[in-house]
Amino acid sequence: MYGYKCEYCQGTVKERIVDREAFKHKTGFVILEDVPIGICDRCGNRYYTAKILHKVEKVATGKIHPDRNELVPVAHVG
Ligand SMILES: [Zn+2]
Repeated sequence: MYGYKCEYCQGTVKERIVDREAFKHKTGFVILEDVPIGICDRCGNRYYTAKILHKVEKVATGKIHPDRNELVPVAHVG
């Protein structure tokens, strides 16, 4: 699903399965585990497939129930 040229440099986007990845959504954050994401081998930019983003959307909007909920620490700066 990856393996294409990076949008920002001459690097190649390589697939890597990460333990957890946080996605920002308009309703908050969603953390997915064991996610096959794409990472550029030069600049490190991260890429996600439509399938992953779809899953984020579904979890964020409550269409899929998460495996568990975690509290995320929030701190104010300034
Ligand atoms: Zn790149």
